[in-house]
Amino acid sequence: MEIIEKAPAKINLGLDALYKRKDGYHELEMIMASVDLADRLTFELLPKDEILIETDSSFLPVDRRNHVYQAAELLKNTFGLTQGVRIYIEKRIPVAAGLAGGSSDCAAALRGLNRLWNLGLSLEELAELGSKIGSDVPYCIHGGTAFVTGRGEKIKFLPSMPQCWVVLVKPRMSVSTSSIFSSLSFNNIQHPDIHGLKQAIETDDYLLMTEKIGNALESVTIKRHPVIQQIKDRMMKYGADAALMSGSGPTVFALCEKKTRAQRIYNGLKGFCDEVYIVRTLK
Ligand code: ATP
Repeated sequence: MEIIEKAPAKINLGLDALYKRKDGYHELEMIMASVDLADRLTFELLPKDEILIETDSSFLPVDRRNHVYQAAELLKNTFGLTQGVRIYIEKRIPVAAGLAGGSSDCAAALRGLNRLWNLGLSLEELAELGSKIGSDVPYCIHGGTAFVTGRGEKIKFLPSMPQCWVVLVKPRMSVSTSSIFSSLSFNNIQHPDIHGLKQAIETDDYLLMTEKIGNALESVTIKRHPVIQQIKDRMMKYGADAALMSGSGPTVFALCEKKTRAQRIYNGLKGFCDEVYIVRTLK
């Protein structure tokens, strides 16, 4: 028997850091939305008690460092399972890009293995297990548009973000999330209006949403990688309604109501960066 799970990428329409907690994590307020750029995971039982990860990507480890491996190991250890599994990851989401590719793969692995091994766990139970592997995993278990707080474990579902086209542009470098958070200074942080953004989504107000999107990490990553600002400027020049860095970067996304504008941004940025995608938001 073979089981397939999709692992969609997310964008941060809003990301704010409120303060640094005693446990070292930042207290966050985020608005996340899934987009239809997705990895595809295939699961198959193995007779031998082993976790075998295979992938078409040359950027991914296939051992314990892979979040998918960690998901399988966590379930095996928690429930004392002795059945082996082969998981094939078709990688489409750029790696270390601010699109939660690893977390979404991990979440898809938990959902897929829950089915393959007939564990009967609810999404809430899977989210709680997933939080042991990564802060974005609980959100990725559910997906959709959500207001996410704490270090990522508190999730309030929102209506789907107003429908539009999203152009994703990933410059060549990768960014380490922890190093961006450690450079964040609360003396000169620019807090986005997350509650205004939330209201825009709740009232399906596309225009207000484009005014309110914001990311407190953006200026930190731009200081290290000025190309992110150049991408944003080009997106606006080619007709984006709004442009913002996702997560800790370096991927930048543009929002457009009209497909022709999204196409113009795609054409304009394709020569500037290798990795450019036009996607839709997922409900
Ligand atoms: P986030 O937006 O949650 O911060 P990201 O998009 O910036 O995540 P990922 O693509 O999740 O970053 O990759 C972060 C690190 O996780 C990379 O160094 C990568 O090697 C590692 N990793 C482990 N497993 C995976 C996986 N299945 N897919 C992608 N990256 C993985």
